[in-house]
Amino acid sequence: MAIREIVPHTDSFIRKRSKTVKVFDEKLWELLDDMKETVDAKYGSGLAAVQVGVLKRVFVLNINNMYIEFVNPQIIDTKGEQYKKEGCLSVGMPFGYVKRPQQVTVRAFDRYGNQFTLVCEDWTAVCVCHENDHLDGVLYIDKIVTPPAEFLEEDEE
Ligand SMILES: [Zn+2]
Repeated sequence: MAIREIVPHTDSFIRKRSKTVKVFDEKLWELLDDMKETVDAKYGSGLAAVQVGVLKRVFVLNINNMYIEFVNPQIIDTKGEQYKKEGCLSVGMPFGYVKRPQQVTVRAFDRYGNQFTLVCEDWTAVCVCHENDHLDGVLYIDKIVTPPAEFLEEDEE
């Protein structure tokens, strides 16, 4: 395994659209292993393959030390709304509020090509949306808004 270099948002590569994974082979597993090591090393909540220079529809999440891999993910349902302050390993500071669904249902494949469906809420839903956006070249800085007062985090009220 290896820690891979992060593509910064100033590099136009980050805006490219990632391609569907068709082969679930050792090359994919090596990518996923490296992404896990990279997101751990950088204390990120998630990382998309495009952020390490690979245009595959793949992202990983690291939520409270629960590590999940998503290959060819699709958000198939959303509920509610929330505003959370997001950051990104490709952007660094500043963080900014983005409006996201409170709950998302995501369908994806694991590294072996088995399909699964996961319902994610709260911060996990934010991370799924953020990483899924990366697969289409979209960054949270494109979506920063001023949240309604009730959504402001405590230190800003
Ligand atoms: Zn990001």
